[in-house]
Amino acid sequence: MHIEILTIGDELLDGLTVDGNAARLGRVLDPVGLRVSRRTSVRDRIPDIVAALREIAERADVCIVSGGLGPTSDDVTVDALAEAAGVDLHEDAEVWARIVARFDGRAPTANNRRQARIPRGGRALQSEIGTAPGIEFDFGRCRIYLVPGVPREFHWHVDTHIVPALRARTGEALPPLSRILRFVGIGESAIGARIERLALSPALSVAYRVRDLDVEVRVRGSDPALVAEAAGRVAAAGEETFVGEGDASLIEVVLDLCRRDGLTLGTAESCTGGLVAALVTAVPGASDVFRGGIVAYANGVKTQVLGVSAGVIEAHGAVSEPCAAAMAAGARRVLGCDIALSITGVAGPGGGTPEKPVGTVCLGWAGAGLDRVTTVQLRGDRDRIRLLSAARALDGVRRGLSRQGNPT
Ligand code: ATP
Ligand code: MG
Repeated sequence: MHIEILTIGDELLDGLTVDGNAARLGRVLDPVGLRVSRRTSVRDRIPDIVAALREIAERADVCIVSGGLGPTSDDVTVDALAEAAGVDLHEDAEVWARIVARFDGRAPTANNRRQARIPRGGRALQSEIGTAPGIEFDFGRCRIYLVPGVPREFHWHVDTHIVPALRARTGEALPPLSRILRFVGIGESAIGARIERLALSPALSVAYRVRDLDVEVRVRGSDPALVAEAAGRVAAAGEETFVGEGDASLIEVVLDLCRRDGLTLGTAESCTGGLVAALVTAVPGASDVFRGGIVAYANGVKTQVLGVSAGVIEAHGAVSEPCAAAMAAGARRVLGCDIALSITGVAGPGGGTPEKPVGTVCLGWAGAGLDRVTTVQLRGDRDRIRLLSAARALDGVRRGLSRQGNPT
């Protein structure tokens, strides 16, 4: 089924509003085995909308149109559809009665009457959450759905009327078309190279997205068995960088592993300034695992609070493996947690030296058999280096605990 979306509004083209409705449609169709083939956006002008509708109706089976169903004079989508299809508009008594009822005793304005107009041959899709109904209209062989642009109303119509109608049209339920796999501690190009070597079937498409903490790889195709087999091979190609599938984030995976082993977690952060603690505590229910974190930004805090010896800092510097090790051990003691991770590095843009350039980050882990330090060289601006540092530190916990649970 060839599905398109037409989003209408000057604000979309002027960059004042991000086209979240089109994005949402794509997201809800994928799990039911459908996809949007094309997205068009036009201004609130009748000639532009007419031209777009005619063009789309030529090639699509279904077109979902967002916006311009409001009561004001800039809301012209219904007029444009009537013009495009060469039909007139009539007032739908039932829609009007519903609008009056929604006003609950107050008088609707003459403008609201505009919202009761339906192109002849069309059908109103009643709305329980807004004044404007949706409209279903067959324009030649293309089924058109007009949907209010207000995101809450758009989502409601898509979920209530459109997705069920499209599923009914396709007959049996279709399986999801894509599987999402997440990787940490490997760059987009490196995982891409490994996946290319798999020479997956040309019937599949593979897409990459760099997110805050991980790289997301989406394997997509119309044959579920083929997709499943490929997803397995892609995960294996990532080896220890493969975190998991679907929505589960790195942090949730870490929290679950800690829960599995009954372990608590704490942090000692320098250049990330509490970022790991913030990310972990953003996950609801983290309190059974996460004890707390210390932001040891100044050397004095590293020595006085975490007990890092001044001699270590003098001999090796604050960005050093011995310092990271002492920070993790200190955090574990001070916070009374089973596992502590530590981060100390040069996030930039200043502060780099030839021996320790910007992006040099020392990571430490202590407790639960994870005792280890390492130094990584990260690339990017300050924000990126801090995020990657947080991801690597959490990933160290994930890798350590996964290995313990799975000795092979
Ligand atoms: P209204 O009754 O509010 O006029 P409408 O159906 O005419 O509803 P619009 O006027 O196009 O819809 O948009 C209403 C609101 O929804 C605006 O705030 C607009 O920014 C937002 N909106 C419109 N289209 C989109 C879209 N594609 N994605 C996200 N938000 C949108
Ligand atoms: Mg409007």
